[in-house]
Amino acid sequence: MSNQTLLNETHDLNLSSWVESANTGKSDFPIQNLPFAIFKEQNKDNGFRGGVAIGDQIIDLAALKNKNVFSGLAQESLEACSSHELNEFMSLGKAYWSALRLALSKALRVGSTLQSALQDCLVNQSDAQYALPCKIGDYTDFYTSIYHATSVGKLFRPDNPLLPNYKWIPIGYHGRSSSIDVSGQEFKRPKGQIKAPDASEPVFAPCKRLDYEMEMAIYIGKGNQLGESISINDAEDHVFGMSLFNDWSARDLQAWEYQPLGPFLAKNFASTVSPWIVTTEALAPYKMAWTRDENDPQPLDYLESTDNRNLGAFDIQLAVELETENMRKSQQPASQLSVSSFKHSYWTVAQMVAHHTINGCNLVAGDMLGSGTQSGPTYEESGSLLELSNGGKQVITLNNGEERTFLEDGDNVIMKGWCEKEGFARIGFGLVESTILPA
Ligand code: CA
Repeated sequence: MSNQTLLNETHDLNLSSWVESANTGKSDFPIQNLPFAIFKEQNKDNGFRGGVAIGDQIIDLAALKNKNVFSGLAQESLEACSSHELNEFMSLGKAYWSALRLALSKALRVGSTLQSALQDCLVNQSDAQYALPCKIGDYTDFYTSIYHATSVGKLFRPDNPLLPNYKWIPIGYHGRSSSIDVSGQEFKRPKGQIKAPDASEPVFAPCKRLDYEMEMAIYIGKGNQLGESISINDAEDHVFGMSLFNDWSARDLQAWEYQPLGPFLAKNFASTVSPWIVTTEALAPYKMAWTRDENDPQPLDYLESTDNRNLGAFDIQLAVELETENMRKSQQPASQLSVSSFKHSYWTVAQMVAHHTINGCNLVAGDMLGSGTQSGPTYEESGSLLELSNGGKQVITLNNGEERTFLEDGDNVIMKGWCEKEGFARIGFGLVESTILPA
């Protein structure tokens, strides 16, 4: 398999849309992207339904269904996108996703005879309110950045940073989905048990080492039967798409509770996703080779394939910004903390899916896999404050002179993601942001 076999007319750089805001070269949502969300108008009672972003607009998929201008799998897909969650559409599989993408791409192009029909279905993104794109039945968080795993391991276990299973198993744990919400989520600083390293007993107090984690959210489309596995070569056909994901973490709670069974209350008080799911098909041009250092263990057979070697990685740029309460009050810009790429991941999306199901575990449409914090090889590519502040020992100075080691009340953490490649359009993920309230 080559990139070429995954590409089709919807990826063509030369396409432009009659929605002119999509053609600026700066929009996250040119006609080559076409990501999905669940939205409604802020001031109307007509309910949440599916939408596709184009420029600064949203195509209302429920309204478009009623126009009856599409046919076949594309029209059936619109039926499935008209409810308040995308699970049904996601469960239909790749043939349906592709049919709707192609129909939308054609209808949104300059010169389309469907322009007037679709024009009636446009909603301004500035008038929209978003919900979670789907019901997330189960959520699993992986740990796929070896740079993050090593830095965090050093802080928690200086003599033994990377455990021996790391290079063999895509490490993960089952998280909690009830506290996942969409961008704009506000949550109270969590309280819990904290034990200082030199104290003999824990105290109960508000978290003092509150952190973010810059991750990708990977959404399962078509699932698998209990008892069956998804092979690595089929894995990406089961992945509907990806969004940005902030896995909030209470580091002081985590340090005290994480052994022997892993994260618990340090992670399940809040997690935030961006509203738009960029489809696996839209991401095809930005796929790239995945490599494993020849001195490291090579994957076991069920985690190994030629396609995965050739094209298993995704080059998605990821940036984190911090906007403090003072910045908001004085209208200063947010301060950038780091930029990295998902391409540095030690394990690929396909390996995560193959590993998750190798024991017969069934994945279900709408299930979400967190990629784990995506830190790259350099300090500037650190995906959490734990790493940027070296465990709270090193103060970070923001643009406006304020300082941080961990997050303070009123802080708004903003994450952005985008893909760029010569010969292809720049596409983006929009953003995920969320603000911390006092305990
Ligand atoms: Ca995480």
